[in-house]
Amino acid sequence: MIIGVPKEIKTNENRVAVTPAGVAELKKHGHQVYVQAGAGEGSGFADKTYIQAGAEILPTIEATYGIAEMIIKVKEPIASEYGLIKENQLVFTYFHFASSEELTHAMIKSKAICLAYETVEKSDRSLPLLVPMSEVAGRMSIQAGAKYLEKTHKGRGILLGGVAGVKPANVLVLGGGIVGTQAAKMAAGLGANVTIMDISLARLRYLEDIMPTNVDTLVSNEYNIREMVQSADLIIGGVLIPGAKAPRLITRDMLSTMKPGTVMVDVAIDQGGCFETSKPTTHADPVYIIDDVVHYCVANMPGAVPYTSTLALTNSTLPYALQLANKGWKKACRENHELQLGLNVINGDVVYNGVAEAWNLPL
Ligand code: NAD
Repeated sequence: MIIGVPKEIKTNENRVAVTPAGVAELKKHGHQVYVQAGAGEGSGFADKTYIQAGAEILPTIEATYGIAEMIIKVKEPIASEYGLIKENQLVFTYFHFASSEELTHAMIKSKAICLAYETVEKSDRSLPLLVPMSEVAGRMSIQAGAKYLEKTHKGRGILLGGVAGVKPANVLVLGGGIVGTQAAKMAAGLGANVTIMDISLARLRYLEDIMPTNVDTLVSNEYNIREMVQSADLIIGGVLIPGAKAPRLITRDMLSTMKPGTVMVDVAIDQGGCFETSKPTTHADPVYIIDDVVHYCVANMPGAVPYTSTLALTNSTLPYALQLANKGWKKACRENHELQLGLNVINGDVVYNGVAEAWNLPL
């Protein structure tokens, strides 16, 4: 199959969909890989590394879309790319159709085959192509939190791990899923005093078993949250209710009960945020303060560490990309239900329930 890897053009997107190692693997299976010049630069992969791995470099985005039977990308196509996508072309990327009616209609019009990373689903209902980014964001949330706890960043001026003779910081993690687990592990590793809250007792039982002794678990309800925020130094919001907006677990009135300089990192901001006072921020201007509480609400946290994020993402996407390239999308999706669930739009027809429902389209 002829595979095209365009350079991401969405603002501040430095990831790339295929690494030189991925190119080598695709080549080994007999595929031709065309990479747009500079596509890997933001993640630290030079064109010459792609060439050494067997790719051909194309000078423009038009040439890359023009030649490819399958486009592998990271972010959803933006308006300037719509016209480049052709009938029957397979596009494998994050689409998030339910949050953009314009993109949905553009892809219907293109008559392409749109296979969305975010809806590829395993039989245990996990989303294997979202997990790596949650892992990155969860780990980053503690790095970011530690930084903004420093006095120069308007935080409380407390070191997460404390030192001998000085108590460590209290870290409260709301949600014990992928983000919460990774956040708790990082905070615990730095020596903080960690509490994870979740509504799922089964999840809390599991976490209780695997976490180090400086991590406690607590059932999530308003009463417990109200009490816990008063002693927290750093709060991480990592809750998710699939397919719905995040619940507002920390209300505005709770802020006045917190210690001045407390830092709140709302990782769930991409689903609307789980603190009432959250509003999306960017890496260029990541924090703001309300009632002396520092809010960090960057919606694309993994974007700050493109090297790690690219490798984490492509480790998960490449096995699927290989199946699509080796068998063609029809056979690959017939034989692998996980991939089949990734199909969102086929030749002008919406085939994914959530997208049809979001925009009132026939299925
Ligand atoms: P997940 O499904 O693995 O975990 C979510 C957890 O939240 C579950 O264990 C669930 O039981 C729990 N939960 C639900 N309601 C709760 C409540 N009221 N109180 C406490 N816990 C509750 O999800 P995840 O992969 O960890 O993702 C978490 C959030 O982070 C999502 O909104 C995701 O989109 C977001 N995310 C953001 C970024 C970013 O850059 N900002 C990156 C990756 C993921």
